[in-house]
Amino acid sequence: MAKHSIPKNGAKIGWANGRLQVPDNPIIPFFPGDGTGPDIWRATQVVLDAAVDKAYKGKKRIAWMEVYAGLTALKNYDKDTVLPQETLDAFRDYRVGIKGPLTTPAGQFKFVCLDCAAELNERPAKCPKCASEWITPRFRSVNVALRQKLDLYACVRPVRWFTGVPCPVKAPQKLDIVIFRENTEDIYAGIEFEQGTPGAKKVYDFLTREMGKKIPFPDSGIGIKPISITGTKRLVRMAIRYALDHKRPSVTIVHKGNIQKFTEGAFRDWGYEVARDEFRDQIVTETELWDKHNGKMPAGKVLIKDRIADQTFQQLLLRPDEYSVLATPNLNGDYLSDAAAAQVGGLGIAPGANIGDGVAIFEATHGTAPKYVGKDMVNPGSLILSGVMMLEHLGWREAADLVVKGLEATIQAKTVTYDLERQMDGARKLKTSEFGAAIAKNMGGVAVAA
Ligand code: NAP
Repeated sequence: MAKHSIPKNGAKIGWANGRLQVPDNPIIPFFPGDGTGPDIWRATQVVLDAAVDKAYKGKKRIAWMEVYAGLTALKNYDKDTVLPQETLDAFRDYRVGIKGPLTTPAGQFKFVCLDCAAELNERPAKCPKCASEWITPRFRSVNVALRQKLDLYACVRPVRWFTGVPCPVKAPQKLDIVIFRENTEDIYAGIEFEQGTPGAKKVYDFLTREMGKKIPFPDSGIGIKPISITGTKRLVRMAIRYALDHKRPSVTIVHKGNIQKFTEGAFRDWGYEVARDEFRDQIVTETELWDKHNGKMPAGKVLIKDRIADQTFQQLLLRPDEYSVLATPNLNGDYLSDAAAAQVGGLGIAPGANIGDGVAIFEATHGTAPKYVGKDMVNPGSLILSGVMMLEHLGWREAADLVVKGLEATIQAKTVTYDLERQMDGARKLKTSEFGAAIAKNMGGVAVAA
């Protein structure tokens, strides 16, 4: 039996000619998540609703539809279902969704407590740590399952500085990038053979004897990573479309093609291929910029360039304003997203989204922060800014801008949650809910006294 209740006052987002068709009252599936998820979700919903109301004066509104995953799925379905089919179907059918963090068991144990993340080898009636009854067999990451089952092939992470956020560099405002990281292949589809196993020996023998390849030492673990034309082209295509839609000046293809020519190097080559074959009139490659345009970028076009991964790290620190949209394979993008976010002090408030063709889920990038469950204490900034990405994805730019204004005014007034307060002189510590309420109040761009 269906557990979701579909809001009567909402309408489905449609899809035509490769674009979302967004009604004024879109139904948006969401789940708050485990741990501190409900705290940050409550604050986020207040902020997003206030921004939409202020921007469109009641003409547009979001019809929220709660769906279940993680702990709430166990409570609403049965004790071993963490990702119900109904939830997957809702995200697929309604096309745009938002989610809080979920517990992902990591260790070599058999059961996990969904309330406090305790790892257990027996299944007790109650958790010995927190007395919760919600003990479930160890399961694979629900986040990864959502990405794989809905084929959300791009992990999108915008990184920019918000005035007032404490950070380690001198000119953080110079970094304003959006990273499109491939989400389905490279090491996410990697195949590994453990050292000393018959599998590793078989692969070693095959590679060295039949294929004539050299592996330095026979006592090696062996990993294989695939990077395909299909996976690369759809990712780079999405990055270029984003740059065109958002009037961004360049797309940089990041790779390690100097070492791995047929995976990383091919990623670069196929990236250029999709740019030239599908966007010929709208792009200029870096070679063409110098050969045909004397180094002067023609107006309205997007520059396509490529950089070796390690050099990209240097450049983002030394010349950040030369970069705008980046398209990367899975592993490079993983490192780069966190390093760039740390550079602007925003690891704790970095937003993210997983996007496929016609389906997108926006999410907090941090975890469930189990230490702070139920304390109304953690920073809701990551989920709120993911909400900003969602509003932009819907084409509701005015509402998105209001949230950013409110957030900046609140941080500049030094009224922040504990994580920022401990790094700022003279700041006042707010609860999660108070921080959300302050952002909603401050959308005029100046802090209103609480
Ligand atoms: P975590 O939940 O991100 O928390 C680690 C630390 O980061 C916290 O103790 C806190 O640092 C800081 N932090 C995280 N969120 C914060 C927020 N909103 N505001 C302020 N500070 C915040 O990482 P974890 O403890 O490694 O993982 C806990 C669970 O979350 C695990 O089950 C993990 O698998 C899961 N997880 C889920 C996702 C997801 O759903 N997308 C992502 C990552 C991890 P201080 O203690 O220094 O204040």
